[in-house]
Amino acid sequence: MAIADDDIDRLRSTVSIVDVVGQAVTLRKVGRNWVGLCPFHAERTPSFNVSETTGRYKCFGCDKGGDVFTFVQEHEHVDFVGAVELLAAKAGIQLTYTSSGQSRERARRKQLVEAMDAAVEWYHQRLLDDPAARAARDYLRSRGLAGDVARQFRLGWAPDDWDALARQAGIAGDLLQATGLVFRNRRDRMQDAFRARVLFPIFSDTGEAVAIGGRVLPGSEDPAKYKNSPETPIYTKSKTLYGLNWAKADIAAA
Ligand code: ZN
Repeated sequence: MAIADDDIDRLRSTVSIVDVVGQAVTLRKVGRNWVGLCPFHAERTPSFNVSETTGRYKCFGCDKGGDVFTFVQEHEHVDFVGAVELLAAKAGIQLTYTSSGQSRERARRKQLVEAMDAAVEWYHQRLLDDPAARAARDYLRSRGLAGDVARQFRLGWAPDDWDALARQAGIAGDLLQATGLVFRNRRDRMQDAFRARVLFPIFSDTGEAVAIGGRVLPGSEDPAKYKNSPETPIYTKSKTLYGLNWAKADIAAA
């Protein structure tokens, strides 16, 4: 079992580290920090510093340092969950427990959303700045999608290159593969899913970019006129594209 991340964030922002440390150590305010005798090593002059601003403590004598949770762990000899539970009980915060599988899944999803967002931004900058994207900009303008629309919906351009995203975007290869924007080709090299295309990011109802649709420019020889990034853990077509499941339910109910 694990404790929900939201609860931990809430505790971190609610609990004052000066209050918590202050119950174990006599603290005196010096400038913006609080100092006292270190509870983790024997000393006669205070070298233990606590900062409310950063939420962290640091001993310049024995080098121990950390946040409010590590302080409780070290001082009360409990593990992380134990420290969270002690602090929550004092703060009167009700904790939510999740299975660790769920929190792993959430962490993974967050990574994928960040990778997708970075890719959308990289493609967007190509559309705005790349001299080779002129034809794409002209095409979009001809369809009534001028600069402000392109910016609002973060439209992009995939260069006419087989691995531009994989090489240049600075996103970890395994994450790019998991988003479906890059795949391992038959020669076992990373290859971009989109090439020489105008890109239309697809956003979830919470505003996260979860997939990308691509379209070649008119006159292109590429037989695949439209192409979408595949379903990933952050993107299920029937859920994301205009809430198709709900639309179907609405129609059935009408
Ligand atoms: Zn110390």
